[in-house]
Amino acid sequence: MSVHVWSVPLRNRFRGITVREGVLMGRRGDDGITRWGEFSPFLEYSPEVALPWLRAAEEAVAGDWPVPLRSSVPVNVTVPAVGPERAREIVARGGCTTAKVKVADPGQTLADDIARLEAVRDAMGPGAKIRIDVNGLWDLDTAIASIPVLDRAAGGLEYVEQPVMDVEELAKVRRRVDVPIAADESIRRAEDPYRVRDLEAADVAVLKVQPLGGVRACLRIAEDIGLPVVVSSALESSVGIAAGVALAAALPDLQHACGLATVQMFTADLADEPLLPVAGHLPVRDVTVSEEILRRLAAPSDRAAHWVRRMAAVRTVGEDHSL
Ligand SMILES: [Mg+2]
Repeated sequence: MSVHVWSVPLRNRFRGITVREGVLMGRRGDDGITRWGEFSPFLEYSPEVALPWLRAAEEAVAGDWPVPLRSSVPVNVTVPAVGPERAREIVARGGCTTAKVKVADPGQTLADDIARLEAVRDAMGPGAKIRIDVNGLWDLDTAIASIPVLDRAAGGLEYVEQPVMDVEELAKVRRRVDVPIAADESIRRAEDPYRVRDLEAADVAVLKVQPLGGVRACLRIAEDIGLPVVVSSALESSVGIAAGVALAAALPDLQHACGLATVQMFTADLADEPLLPVAGHLPVRDVTVSEEILRRLAAPSDRAAHWVRRMAAVRTVGEDHSL
């Protein structure tokens, strides 16, 4: 197996970072085809938290994905916490009819969120679906007060994702507002993702392949949690996105656009043909990676050394778990 550490600047600051880094693993199968897996846990994650990310990459290089049930998947455009004019430009690309808008960014006000949502609705028209992602940054009272305001500004919200971090409070918000609630962090960072189901805390489950340990692990969660699923990226290159597409393509029921159109947030991509939306959809297909791209996007040697050490630490945790 080959291992390549990569580093790509982002177009806009997202999640507090301006550069995305990770490891690409490649393995040539008996059929002569090289399969690629992405291991790109965020830098602050411990080896224990990063272990499912490694499992997902290993599943990808093993070629162990379920048979797809569809040939393309609908995707949303993601709007970071940018100003209204930039938001207009972003939603104009890729032909998506669903937008996910980040709100509650530290340092911004509710007025900033209102202006961004009004611009997105104006640019996309009355037929578009608009969802917001709070990343758990509101407290209970702020959530209950802000959701109706932003619902009006957006001309109707499809759902609000993770308005508060705590799953008990998420259930309370759901009982107090009319907008449907989606759970993301409450599933992917929780000891028990099924608390969301048991507390009836959400209407929609957001699933991400790397944090949850692979495509097949996510399919099991989707079946057990009994909620409509939105497959989302963890801000990955097209190699990681391909795993999300494989999950979305294998779900028996897909009601919502997926959050997998994030490759355009990168200034460069690892795949020869990036997984970018056309008419609001991503194709279900394998991706190839050339030697030239691997060379061009190779991380500086100190960062490469960091990732090699990090991956070894994660493997050690994995071995302890399997004892
Ligand atoms: Mg989210």
